[in-house]
Amino acid sequence: RAKAHGRGRAEIFDETLRLQLNQRAELEAAIAAALGNGEMLVAYQPVVDVATDRLTGYEALIRWERPGIGLVPPDQFIPVAEGSRLIGDVDRWMLHEATRQLAQWRAESAIADEEPEPTVAVNISGRHLADRRVVTDVADALAASGLPPGLLILEVTETVLVDDPIAYDHLTELRAMGVGIAIDDFGTGYTSIGQLRNMPVDTLKIDRSFVASADPAHRELVALMIRAAHTFGLTVVAEGVEEPAQLALLKAQACDQAQGYLLYRPMPAADAGALLRRSEPAGQA
Ligand code: C2E
Ligand code: MG
Ligand code: MG
Ligand code: MG
Repeated sequence: RAKAHGRGRAEIFDETLRLQLNQRAELEAAIAAALGNGEMLVAYQPVVDVATDRLTGYEALIRWERPGIGLVPPDQFIPVAEGSRLIGDVDRWMLHEATRQLAQWRAESAIADEEPEPTVAVNISGRHLADRRVVTDVADALAASGLPPGLLILEVTETVLVDDPIAYDHLTELRAMGVGIAIDDFGTGYTSIGQLRNMPVDTLKIDRSFVASADPAHRELVALMIRAAHTFGLTVVAEGVEEPAQLALLKAQACDQAQGYLLYRPMPAADAGALLRRSEPAGQA
């Protein structure tokens, strides 16, 4: 009897596992298909210069408009894509789409006369960054779009830079091509501020959790991050600014740029293009 019972449980376990694996495989297949059939979209979130209120560029954020289901946020499918080689396809699609879009906006308007010109930032997953192909993937997107390398920023998380010497080498190569590198979600990993000095990066993005915190110790930490980053010649972006008081504090702390719902939410490409045209210097449009 006990034996029969045990086998029954094993069968239930097998069945659950089989279902999970099937669901994962189905989701992977659906993501792969979505990249080719127009279900994937890019939302653009404006980034603003804190001192002048001027637009400095956009962060490109992936969106999946899944028929019959609705909008699937990246947190629900990027981790699945990261579990397979699919993440390379996602990142390549984003690189091509975001560079093509900014190049098109430049061609259509006078933004190319602006100084400094608006940039576009693309998130690159750690797994893709460890793959040798990442260097050619970025070069291909720049060649296909004709976008100057200096207008593309790659966002990577700090753990990638610290833990993976191969990814580190790829970033060094990409930076030599003239592409900008930003550390995303800074403060959530284990990087010390001093380590920033020797890293192949241009920009530090302070994580939302620090920007939003009312804890005086966190405020001190943000001030410290900004000062240290400036000492090393880095540009600082504050993420997730939602309150006017947060923005005022960042301004007082000499933070360079800000991004968050208080300023702009991520928006469809058409709205982002319209915003660019409105922000052109008078008389040039
Ligand atoms: P992230 O790179 O740190 O992007 C910022 C996230 O914060 C975005 O979420 C953005 O919509 C959200 N956000 C911006 N301002 C505010 C604010 O004021 N308050 C709050 N609560 N949130 C704000 P989203 O678009 O859901 O993306 C989540 C994460 O998914 C991103 O975090 C990034 O790590 C990843 N991701 C998005 N697109 C891509 C992509 O194309 N490729 C890869 N590999 N990862 C991506
Ligand atoms: Mg990002
Ligand atoms: Mg971030
Ligand atoms: Mg992130």
